[in-house]
Amino acid sequence: MRHFLENLIVIGCNRPLSKVLYAGFALCLLVPPAFAQTPPTSVQPLPSGIMPNDYFHTGAGAHYLRRAEGDLVTEKLRGNISVIMGSGANVIILSGKQGKFLVDAGIGVSESKMKVALSAISPTPVKYVVNTHWHWDHTDGNAWLHESGATIVAQRNTLKHLSQATHVDDWNWTLPPVTADARPTLLIDDSKIFRFGGDIIHVEHYGPGHTDGDVWIYFEKADVMALGDLFWNGNYPFIDNQDGGNINDAIKWADKAVERTTDKTIMIPGHGPVGTRAQLIEFRNMLVTVRDNIAALKRQGKSIDEVVAAKPTAAFDDKWGRFVIAPAHFTRLVYAGL
Ligand SMILES: [Zn+2]
Repeated sequence: MRHFLENLIVIGCNRPLSKVLYAGFALCLLVPPAFAQTPPTSVQPLPSGIMPNDYFHTGAGAHYLRRAEGDLVTEKLRGNISVIMGSGANVIILSGKQGKFLVDAGIGVSESKMKVALSAISPTPVKYVVNTHWHWDHTDGNAWLHESGATIVAQRNTLKHLSQATHVDDWNWTLPPVTADARPTLLIDDSKIFRFGGDIIHVEHYGPGHTDGDVWIYFEKADVMALGDLFWNGNYPFIDNQDGGNINDAIKWADKAVERTTDKTIMIPGHGPVGTRAQLIEFRNMLVTVRDNIAALKRQGKSIDEVVAAKPTAAFDDKWGRFVIAPAHFTRLVYAGL
């Protein structure tokens, strides 16, 4: 019995009821890790035609699965750096004589399309894949990339999340631990420098932000920065409050990226088009204003539902609220982190 209980994880039970209901839970459930929900390879309604309210049916995962049914788009940037869009998060490629250095892995369902897109850049193999954080849309391609010979690199907390069943209330989904061959083996605590493909690549961690295991990747010679989900160019971001992320630390990271770069730096977001430092500043300023609006309402004692009803993001919704994180959802993510 003791072993049985040790193998149970409790999901949803430590959340306020409104939050639990919002995420689609009616009950606190005890779920053995073996029952963690395997990510699907396509969006599948139940036989009754009902679309369950979770990450892979109505949430961001469903959006990425549908997008992945279409063609991938490769955009060449600067200094042998390209970005491939259409397989979950943006995938960044530095191509050198000895092989390729990737930032993020995309999603596994795109494997054959990614192989074609990578071969079109150059015939060399993938040597390294850095995961900017643990989320599925950035790491699901790890398994096939590792099988092809790549070393998977990540901050230590990213390995922790990928090694255990992780429930995210906002996704109404429990991601299972990834298989051993898909886990990062080259681990970073604070920073590491790679000399690869003629560039100097800085992989750096400054504590929590979007999760507790974020890294940015700065290609020094090309002057290109890949920010993972620390930057969503033109869209409200997801913030993983349950796994160490929060709005104040998300703003801290944006401030650091602004300090570290110039108006010549190419800024690559986890989601959205390739951007500039001016666009990162606009994103940072949006985060700060929304945070301040919501913090003021929270200080007045307003509940999360009252704050959502007050529409504290209204001035930004036309521009930022049209992707996978809608205005009310973003308001709840910011409120929960304050
Ligand atoms: Zn993410």
